[in-house]
Amino acid sequence: MRSVYFIFLLFFAHNLQAQNKPSVDFIQAAAQIKPQVPQKNLEGTVNYQFKVNQKIDSLFLDAQNISFNQITLNDENISYVNTGQKLIIPASLPIGSYELKLHYVAIPKQTVYFLGWDDSIEGNEQIWTQGQGKYTSHWLPSFDDMTEKVEFDLAITFDKKYQVIANGELLEKVQKDNLITWHFDMKRPMSSYLAAFAIGDFDKKELVSASGIPIELYYNPNDSLKVEPTYRYTQEIFDFLEDEIGVPYPWQNYKQVPVQDFLYAGMENTGTTIFSNSFMVDSIAFVDKNYVNVNAHELAHQWFGNLVTEVSAEHHWLHEGFATYYAYLSDKHILGDDYFYWKLYESARTLNSISENGEGEALTNPKASSLTFYEKGAWALIALKNAVGEKAFKMGMANYLKKYAFQNVTIKDFLQEIKNVAALDLTEFENQWLKSTTFPWEIAKNFLVNNCKSVKEYLHFKSKLENQQIEANINQLLWNDSLAVPFKRQLLFDGVTSLGDSTLLNILNNEPLKVRQALAIALPMVNEDIRSDFDNLLEDESYVTQETALFKLWDAFPEQRRTYLNKTKGVEGFSNKNIKLLWLTLALITPDFEVENKQAFYVELNNYTAPQYHFEIRQLAFQYLSQINALSDTAIAHLIGATNHHVWQFKKASIDILTSFIAEEENKERVIAVGYLLSEEEKAILSKFLTP
Ligand SMILES: [Zn+2]
Repeated sequence: MRSVYFIFLLFFAHNLQAQNKPSVDFIQAAAQIKPQVPQKNLEGTVNYQFKVNQKIDSLFLDAQNISFNQITLNDENISYVNTGQKLIIPASLPIGSYELKLHYVAIPKQTVYFLGWDDSIEGNEQIWTQGQGKYTSHWLPSFDDMTEKVEFDLAITFDKKYQVIANGELLEKVQKDNLITWHFDMKRPMSSYLAAFAIGDFDKKELVSASGIPIELYYNPNDSLKVEPTYRYTQEIFDFLEDEIGVPYPWQNYKQVPVQDFLYAGMENTGTTIFSNSFMVDSIAFVDKNYVNVNAHELAHQWFGNLVTEVSAEHHWLHEGFATYYAYLSDKHILGDDYFYWKLYESARTLNSISENGEGEALTNPKASSLTFYEKGAWALIALKNAVGEKAFKMGMANYLKKYAFQNVTIKDFLQEIKNVAALDLTEFENQWLKSTTFPWEIAKNFLVNNCKSVKEYLHFKSKLENQQIEANINQLLWNDSLAVPFKRQLLFDGVTSLGDSTLLNILNNEPLKVRQALAIALPMVNEDIRSDFDNLLEDESYVTQETALFKLWDAFPEQRRTYLNKTKGVEGFSNKNIKLLWLTLALITPDFEVENKQAFYVELNNYTAPQYHFEIRQLAFQYLSQINALSDTAIAHLIGATNHHVWQFKKASIDILTSFIAEEENKERVIAVGYLLSEEEKAILSKFLTP
């Protein structure tokens, strides 16, 4: 215990010094990494150049679960202490420049994900990293502290069959036998959490920004038809953000890589965004779910987070609030004013209701939720710009980025740059938006009312709603073709049940797709009088509409179930197969539908629970199968395995499904009986579920 305490003190002393002029400054890292598939580990060498500015007694690096074969300082072997989390080199070093060389093997328990190597499917093999929140020090001895910025040059050696993508510019590929070493070069420093690589079967599409930055858009060859809708507007977003932010894109190039079973929507590794391949969409899916906002959000982080980086989590607004804000502006530029203001309205309403429930959070709370950092954070910037004026806001923002480029920042640093150009006291802004846990709803509402006619009209309509008949009003308003689509949608969510059949038919036949969709979702039950018009929704070019219409029609008209199932046969839907899985479920529980194929439907639906499928497909399949009580033994085994998945939302959903399944006594016996299908690790997991 004592040694741990001692290490802790030393670490703190090092950190405190790092705040001012650091006593040690790591400048450059040349890393050679060799991921090894059967072992799922990485062999590596990293060569750090560093400067000692004030005499030191020890050096520290973060290294989680890494074993070192050899460590040299200026080419001489040196003794070290490896705690399993930190590497400590007790060496008395005077002022000067040094070279530290580490030879190691990392066995990452997190941060590096090996997927698709254990099945027989060709081309789904991937290795990718997620450093933020998961720590790059699991695969590269580096610095969990964001204030240590290093120029990382990665060289990665792997099977020549696969593409390797990493931060920086690809200088050369050197082949030796079946292996290729990909040499990447960075020109500027970054925090360790932004170092990343991805390996897999990828093709790419190349663009060049208006300013001349090469942009590479990767995709799995199976998704070639989805490339255009997925990456739609990429060039516009890039050019817009460079212009709007007013500071050139700070890195050599920009790459975007979609990967399987990613932990988040996207991650802005420097110059190398990795994102969830569930955003690979076709043109129909694009209508309801697309990559446009995430594309802009991760790109905005290349300035806000990567170029200027928070000192610590209290300043996280400077990352997520800013990226969300610029992504909203990009949405406005591409998708229009109504889209933008109604998104802001929805976000303000959510924030306000949380705040009214007493669950609001301050933006300076380092443990605040994503909603606070992202949505309240974006709103705070909108309010700030509104307060100081666009010109001062843009000038202050550009000054801030230039002054602190490749450094670390605090909220105070940012506000000072705005104050310098705005000549305005920002105390009230700080109190209202950054320090208070209450959401300033009145300010937000006034902003919307002053800037968006349709939100203004809607709020006015809502305020007198109680006194008048909603149907008359909705009828009157819907007939007005100039009304914004989000306005009409909101009206339907508010009052669809009070609408008469003639209005419903009018909407089904004359309103645009997104308004028809809102009707499909909001309407609790379809009646016979609108049935034949509602049937047409099965052919609307939206997978949300089709899925909703199929279920509602199947539910309302038992005698027509076969017709509806025949009509929607073979439709897959989104990449999570939302329509296909619903269809299989309904086909299984519709007694007179294709009796001879029931077994095949059962097998197919259960197959979608297997690990080679995207976790979103698996999660839907588990939900449907447990709802209709049709989990096969193999699916139960897959469910047990899924309770240990690396994506926490899926892990949690699987735990919930398994827990309620086991709650039934007869299911418990079935679960015990599938033991023969489980690995030792899964058996251990299961025993935890079975022990009360
Ligand atoms: Zn973000």
